[in-house]
Amino acid sequence: MDSVLLSDIKFLPGVGPKRAEILFKELGVNTFDDLIRHYPYKYTDRTRFYTVSEIESDQALIQLRGKIATMELVGKKPKMRLSARFEDTSGSIELIWFQGIKWVQQTIKLGVEYVVFGKPAIFNGKFSIMHPEMEESAKTEQVAYPYTYQAAYPTTEKMKSNFLTSRVIHKLQYQLLQKVYGKIPESLPPGLLESLKFPGINETILNIHFPKDQDSLKNARYRLKFEEFFQIQLGLLRQKNWKNRKIKGYVFPKIGDLFNRFYTENLPFEMTGAQKKVMREIRKDLGSGLQMNRLLQGDVGSGKTLVALLSMLIALDNGYQVCLMAPTEILALQHFQTFTRMLANLPIHLRLLTGSTKTRQRNSLHEELREGELDILIGTHALIEDTVQFKNLGLVVIDEQHRFGVAQRARLWEKADGILPHILVMTATPIPRTLAMTLYGDLDISVIDELPPGRKPIHTAHYFDSKRLVVFEFLRKQIALGRQIYIVYPLIQESEKLDFKNLYDGYESITRAFPAPEYAVSVLHGQMKPEEKAKAMDYFVKGITKIMVSTTVIEVGVDVPNASVMMIESAERFGLSQLHQLRGRVGRGADQSYCILMSGFKLSKEAKTRIETMTQTNDGFVIAEVDMKLRGPGDLEGTQQSGVPFNLSIANLLTDTAILEHARRVAQEVLEIDPLLESAENEVLVEQLAKQKREIKDWSRIS
Ligand code: ADP
Ligand code: MG
Repeated sequence: MDSVLLSDIKFLPGVGPKRAEILFKELGVNTFDDLIRHYPYKYTDRTRFYTVSEIESDQALIQLRGKIATMELVGKKPKMRLSARFEDTSGSIELIWFQGIKWVQQTIKLGVEYVVFGKPAIFNGKFSIMHPEMEESAKTEQVAYPYTYQAAYPTTEKMKSNFLTSRVIHKLQYQLLQKVYGKIPESLPPGLLESLKFPGINETILNIHFPKDQDSLKNARYRLKFEEFFQIQLGLLRQKNWKNRKIKGYVFPKIGDLFNRFYTENLPFEMTGAQKKVMREIRKDLGSGLQMNRLLQGDVGSGKTLVALLSMLIALDNGYQVCLMAPTEILALQHFQTFTRMLANLPIHLRLLTGSTKTRQRNSLHEELREGELDILIGTHALIEDTVQFKNLGLVVIDEQHRFGVAQRARLWEKADGILPHILVMTATPIPRTLAMTLYGDLDISVIDELPPGRKPIHTAHYFDSKRLVVFEFLRKQIALGRQIYIVYPLIQESEKLDFKNLYDGYESITRAFPAPEYAVSVLHGQMKPEEKAKAMDYFVKGITKIMVSTTVIEVGVDVPNASVMMIESAERFGLSQLHQLRGRVGRGADQSYCILMSGFKLSKEAKTRIETMTQTNDGFVIAEVDMKLRGPGDLEGTQQSGVPFNLSIANLLTDTAILEHARRVAQEVLEIDPLLESAENEVLVEQLAKQKREIKDWSRIS
């Protein structure tokens, strides 16, 4: 890069050390290059001039051309204002200043033509413009850059109080571009630039700050957005190519006894088409000689566990150990019980390892693991935080991926030496396509897009708290039919004590409405001891208790097919994806299931949207899209922990989907010809990738 671009921003005239510091603190702008990459967020059309007679109410910023006829001070301090009568050929309007009066009086001349720019408002029953921007007409024509589409820049309070307003930034950009125009290095190879018909980078940067016209602005924006996505995709896909070349995986060539016996003797149902499709994809990976890195997405209840189990059996058949990690103890325990039951008559040794496993058991477990006597290890985080040593770990299954942080997965990675185990990550948090492309561009993705047959869509209804008695009546009827019920209370982040109170108040009112001995109620929350949790869960699973009052610990994975009602208290406090997860706890058997959302009368607009979305659809992907729109992609569950921070400065994941897909396609084409970007032509792309400060390294090590 030309060294002028790397100059410290403080050397730009009009900046200096103090403002430089503010630019750095507020915007991360350090060099000339950083500042030209600080893009406008909107543009005001200044190609159009209005006349006074055209002014209407509700108009945005407009500009007028005319002269000031009179100027006078009106009223007394502190409410004194300077009032000017501004005229054009069509009429006149009042311009008003409350501040900077002296300065205006000194600089603004009567009888000289001005361009006035501002927002008309009604004052004393007439249109006026307060604190307009004024520029002598003659001077606007001298200005080197045209005022066509005037850029506005994001600023902060701190910036404004140091006179770094949007207008000032605009002027700085102008000065800067005079210095660097023609020196900004091209960031795309010439061939690509030509085939994409993009403007050159210098023209692009000029037009993003000072667009000649609408078309050049459009082209500049497209190119910059494209490049932002293109670099992410290129980085991820190249990484994938690199891995495919270098990282060998164990080969599991055979389907053996265990798999076949399970399939013919133990499998209690026919696999769905989607499950079969995914199994074919996984089998192909496991036989390829390359390490599998697969993300399995499937809505709640789509039957991911079976896919995990079958994949594990393939590994066992080929003589390897496997492990399964779950986000909570309850879920780990439940997986352990499910697997124990499903593998009952097969010669497979499996054990559970969680935070509450006693030291003595833990020691024997370690021993068995090292000696290769243990086939399947199921556990929670403890599994990797522990000093577990496998004899030959061939496959790692991670359930409900979004609960695992990057660091935790990295630990697992360290356990493997030599060849890396295959990895299957399962998630029920549906990730919108655009996001999946950006986040998991280097993972292979399988989707179970079909629920097991016979499932009836869950009916979801919203009731205000005042209808509680009606709802209770309904619950009683369901229990009379032999069904079971979850009642979930929200976590109140600020205070664990409050949570507890919230839950226990709820528990009390529930036991009053559903008294013993006729009804039996379990309670479950995060602060209980593991044994107590297991016991509460066990009672409910066995149907001894009919109602489970719980916090969101029940959210993930738990499977009790006989439970047919999920009642969510204070539903307005929950996020959409959380509501969907909770609802997924029911509707697992053949009975009609229900989700009841209780709320107070006062609902924010967003809460209303969330609740309405829930009552309208059961489709996890639709819900994920709505969620992303409500919260923005950065907040979406899973993304914060993904290790790929969103540094998009101009592109938008929600609205620029088409550009993202275009960028991904082009990235694939480039890599098809030059998989590792080794050609001279693509050197410039490699430089760009190196510049990216994204933490892709960490992420891809794990996945
Ligand atoms: P999730 O994808 O949410 O983890 P599970 O694996 O827990 O879903 O499966 C949900 C329920 O569906 C379980 O009770 C499981 O036994 C059942 N199930 C899974 N696959 C099928 C199938 N092909 N036919 C019928 N029931 C199935
Ligand atoms: Mg599951």
